[in-house]
Amino acid sequence: MTIDQFIERLYNLRVDTTTRDGDGSPHEKPHKPLLLLAALDLLDKGLATPDRIPWNQDLRDCFKSRFDVVRKLNDANDPALPFRYLASDGFWLPLESDGVTPIRREIRVGSDSNLVFARFVDGTDVLVSIPEVRRRMREALVSRYFPQHAMALLAGKLPTAEPIVPKVAEEEPEYGRSPAFRRKILEIYDHQCAACGLRIRLPLGNEVSFIDAAHLIPFSEARNDHPTNGLALCKNHHWAMDRDLIAPCPDHHWKVASILDSRRSTGEKELLELSGKSVLLPKDPAFHPNEEGLRWRCERVSA
Ligand SMILES: [Zn+2]
Repeated sequence: MTIDQFIERLYNLRVDTTTRDGDGSPHEKPHKPLLLLAALDLLDKGLATPDRIPWNQDLRDCFKSRFDVVRKLNDANDPALPFRYLASDGFWLPLESDGVTPIRREIRVGSDSNLVFARFVDGTDVLVSIPEVRRRMREALVSRYFPQHAMALLAGKLPTAEPIVPKVAEEEPEYGRSPAFRRKILEIYDHQCAACGLRIRLPLGNEVSFIDAAHLIPFSEARNDHPTNGLALCKNHHWAMDRDLIAPCPDHHWKVASILDSRRSTGEKELLELSGKSVLLPKDPAFHPNEEGLRWRCERVSA
C-alpha cells in the first residue's frame, strides 16, 4: 500500500453518523479517527510499536484528551468500541493477549483486558513506522474529520516544512487536489451535480468523472477536507462557482451574479435560470454543506 492509498483509506473510514443530536447538528461519530490519533501519539512517544498498540491507560488518556476537544453533546467517551470496530477498515487488527486470536468480545477497562493489543496490518505497519507518514496521517485525519479543531489537535505537531498539499495551478483551483476528498464527496452526493442534477457515472472509477468535488472554502484557506466543506458539481457549475458567478447560499438556494446577461449567450441564460433553485443536498444530513462555507460562497456573488 502506498501512502496516498493509506490516506485515502483514512478519508473513508467506515464511520457511523448520528441520527439525532443533542446540539442540533447531525455528525459523523468521531471515535475511529480519534483512536487513530491516539495510536499515533503512542507511536511518537515510543509507547507502542506498529505491531503492538496496547489497550492501556496511556492509549485511553490520549483518546480522552483529544475527545474532550472535539466531542459533541451526544458523543460518549468510549475508546473500546473503535478499538474493536476499526478492524472493519482492513488495516487494524485487534488481538487477544495470545497475539493470535482476533478479539470478538466486548473489552473493558480491567485486568482481563490489560494485555489486549492491536496491530497495523496490510502494509500499513511499515508506513506508520515512518515519522513523516505519521505526520501526514495526523494532518489528513484532522483535515478530514476535525478541521475546526486543527489548532488544538495539532498543537505542537504542526509541520515546519512544506505543507502536505502541493500548490494547485491558478487555472484549476482545487480540481483533483485530493482523490480521497473527491471519492467521499462523489459517494455522498451519489455522483450528482448539486446545481443541475446531472448524474454521470462511468464504470471507470472515480478518477474519470464529469462530476467534481468542489470545496466551499478553498482548502488552501481553511485546510478543511470535511465533507461538509464540499459540494459535488459538474465541470460547468464548478467552473462557474469558482469564478463567483453562482453560489449556494445558507438558505440552500442558488444565487447568481448580476453580471450575467441572458441575452448575451445561452450559457449565461442557463446559469441565470439557476437563480432561486434548490441546492441538491445529500440524503444524510450529517453531510449537508456547513453554513460557514455557504455564507463564504454566497457573499462573494453580487446579485
Ligand atoms: Zn451541473
